[in-house]
Amino acid sequence: MTSDTLDSLVADLTSGAIRIVDLTQTLSPETAPIVLPPEAGQCWPFRLEQISRYDERGPAWYWNNFSCGEHTGTHFDAPIHWVSGRDLPNNTTDTVPPQHLIGPACVIDCSGRVATNPDFLLTVDYVMDWEREHGRILPRSWLLMRSDWSKRSDPCAYQNIDEEGPHTPGPDVEVIRFLIEERDIIGFGSEAIGTDAGQGAHLRPPYPCHYYMHGSGRYGLQCLTNLELLPPRGSVIICPPLKIRNGSGSPLRVLALVPRLT
Ligand code: MN
Repeated sequence: MTSDTLDSLVADLTSGAIRIVDLTQTLSPETAPIVLPPEAGQCWPFRLEQISRYDERGPAWYWNNFSCGEHTGTHFDAPIHWVSGRDLPNNTTDTVPPQHLIGPACVIDCSGRVATNPDFLLTVDYVMDWEREHGRILPRSWLLMRSDWSKRSDPCAYQNIDEEGPHTPGPDVEVIRFLIEERDIIGFGSEAIGTDAGQGAHLRPPYPCHYYMHGSGRYGLQCLTNLELLPPRGSVIICPPLKIRNGSGSPLRVLALVPRLT
């Protein structure tokens, strides 16, 4: 049995008619960890420890141990990550339905606004303007917020913390409800360290993207990069997290299939 669809996909991948764009940041000890207020628990930063490298510890092989929090570097948020999603079915990294992990992406370019305002909040009006130009967001799409935030290679600039806490862009309360209730998106992705804005604790509810997205069984992707290489619509992303039992999220590789425009 063969599938014409898969045959043509393979042919297009081979010919380059569809190219693969890597939306993943490289994990390293320099990867900026999420920092919470000191009274909260903290996640481990990424650590790499060599086991052997063609030496007396292992003459023919090289390998490492690594450790990090689930929410480190480019990573996936499962619904159980937030208290609003704690009792949903299939809410963990090992039970998320695989068909939810490949899907179409809409990319909303906010980079111009973020360049002058790191606290920029995506609004319904901004999304409606995008739709007037590019068409309505299809149900079960991923919404990826392009901000060019991932161009900040210095970890401190990437975290962008001052005495008020972190300053990074994200969605406002109304747009998240709109994207769920009116557009039925399956996930929200960001180039910044969280799907919510750095100052999202001051919104009501606090961290609305986490609260509403995970409370309705949807997903998050953070620390994406290369979003400027994607068209506003027409790409497909592949984003399976590690299959950690009862996991709340995990680092992952996010790939996008992008049609080459002729
Ligand atoms: Mn996370």
